[in-house]
Amino acid sequence: MINYKKKNTIVTIRESIVCDMCGKVIKCVSSEMDEIIEAQETFHGLHQCGYGTIFQDEGVLEFDLCQHCLKKIIDENKINVRIE
Ligand SMILES: [Zn+2]
Repeated sequence: MINYKKKNTIVTIRESIVCDMCGKVIKCVSSEMDEIIEAQETFHGLHQCGYGTIFQDEGVLEFDLCQHCLKKIIDENKINVRIE
């Protein structure tokens, strides 16, 4: 027999994401399908730079984009994206 004990804990949840290009606030907690899709389709960029980078030696680049801004960047810059 296993005995369980209830314990109160603090849980951190992601409440929203702000697009770093257009400023749109995307709710992460929602029962609306459109909002759920917007949240799951956000793009999170994270890159650890090395030495000699054009940004900052050993800097960290981090940003979030909504799917619309990601598509705009891809389309306007003619980035050759592979979709599988
Ligand atoms: Zn955006």
